[in-house]
Amino acid sequence: MALMITDECINCDVCEPECPNQAIYMGADIYEIDPDKCTECVGHFDEPQCMQVCPVDCIPIHPDHVETRETLWQKYQRLTKAGQPLTSSDEVPVSMLPSATPTGG
Ligand code: SF4
Ligand code: SF4
Repeated sequence: MALMITDECINCDVCEPECPNQAIYMGADIYEIDPDKCTECVGHFDEPQCMQVCPVDCIPIHPDHVETRETLWQKYQRLTKAGQPLTSSDEVPVSMLPSATPTGG
């Protein structure tokens, strides 16, 4: 699932640098999370880092972006492929791997 920031955000700037996917950015009034980039920290950490550091607990799960762990893995892999290759510590369990069958479009 992607997470979201509610209007209780006090713009403390703590969460933004903690996001491993650069999914957090300053919006019009408060910080926001790009659901296309948020993997709930899957692939990087065991717990969502932004949730851990937010002093006012204003980062719940986004109800419109409910995703399985496998989908989050795939999102993580898409994001990291665009950047740098996976390291051995990022090994994905076989059961988590998406189907390798290419589709014809
Ligand atoms: S859960 Fe992780 S990936 Fe998603 S916005 Fe928070 S820090 Fe970034
Ligand atoms: S940590 Fe919480 S209060 Fe601070 S900027 Fe992020 S969402 Fe807002």
